[in-house]
Amino acid sequence: MKLGEIIQKDKKYYMNTFGDRVPVCFTHGRGILLYDTEGNEYHDFFAGIAVSALGHSHSVLVNAICEQAKKLIHCSSLYYIEQQANLAELIVKNSCADRVFFANSGAEANEGAIKLARLYFRKKGLSEKYEIITLDNSFHGRTLATIAATGQEKYQKQYCPLTPKFSKVPINDIAALENAINEHTCAVMLEPIQGESGVNPTTMEYMRAVRDLCDKKGILLIFDEVQCGLGRTGKLFGYQHYGVEPDIFTLAKALAGGFPIGALCAKEPVAGAFEPGDHGSTFGGNPLACSAGIAVLSTIINENLSDNAAEVGNYFFEKMEVIKKDYPIIKEVRGKGLMIGIEFSKPVAKIVNKKIFEKKYLLGTSGESILRILPPLIITKKDMDGLINVLAEVLKDINN
Ligand SMILES: *Cc1c(COP(=O)(O)O)cnc(C)c1O
Repeated sequence: MKLGEIIQKDKKYYMNTFGDRVPVCFTHGRGILLYDTEGNEYHDFFAGIAVSALGHSHSVLVNAICEQAKKLIHCSSLYYIEQQANLAELIVKNSCADRVFFANSGAEANEGAIKLARLYFRKKGLSEKYEIITLDNSFHGRTLATIAATGQEKYQKQYCPLTPKFSKVPINDIAALENAINEHTCAVMLEPIQGESGVNPTTMEYMRAVRDLCDKKGILLIFDEVQCGLGRTGKLFGYQHYGVEPDIFTLAKALAGGFPIGALCAKEPVAGAFEPGDHGSTFGGNPLACSAGIAVLSTIINENLSDNAAEVGNYFFEKMEVIKKDYPIIKEVRGKGLMIGIEFSKPVAKIVNKKIFEKKYLLGTSGESILRILPPLIITKKDMDGLINVLAEVLKDINN
């Protein structure tokens, strides 16, 4: 079908939650390249929102999905599942977690984390501990509990009354956190690097103080690593930058390279609070999703894609330090590894993004003044040079 027809059909039949989308429809991809219905080629520097970590059509992932689909797609967790056990083992052996539960998305993994935190205290006879403190400008998903956990009014205001017992504090403010903790608090939940709201890293000092505070107050620390986990920041998990470990963390986006999956990961004894019947999922952890997950995670680990993310990310940050001097409209370039935000001093992010798209490069934005870059982890320095050239050309136009 031609693009015009597809748009017409979408406008007629699909719920209008996305408004006017970027006017393109991709048919296939390879590596960091994507191709559309009109035969154009694009450089993908957004990876479907930090999902396509191995790029597009990676042979290991494609083979894993095809081979598993021929054998068994689904059977339900009423039965033992080899791939589910293997993916759980792979996560446990490479992280601080002792046990894993598979869901189908990031929001669902976070719902599981919220349930587990409450249940852990209930089973200790502390059923008055149910409140969770999260951060301003956080993003934890689109379900009713996770929008309540999210620190952004735009996702919440249409759905009031919100699921109760989530409170918010500013990022990197340990005194505010300490003040917010009360006898009902069961956990603090945060993204080590906030993604959706514009790439805002927590500081080393803050993360260490948060861990100490949680230990002192006897409450759990939950990290939402849905976006920053799995090699994106230059380490396999975001928390590894800080020398602190969470009691619970969640994964999703990149885990199966675009096949839907989420993971709730926890240390003992917290993980042990889930007993038979306490939680479940029909699709979660099925053979196909877990085969895809094993293919992606083992490739990230075996091919040291975290190191590549660190190296190419640093290369970008160094180049931008120089380029920034010529473009005062760039206020700040921040992030870690291949989780990058460029903040402008004026609300030009959308127009910059549009002009970059016209040059067949795909990026994302956050609000009016932040450009987000989340390329596949297989990206090279040469690919980055391509983006930097395009960005410089576009900014020259904008400055004039
Ligand atoms: C994307 C994201 C989510 C939500 O994941 P879904 O798979 O869309 O439900 C949650 N937390 C963070 C940090 C995210 O970036």
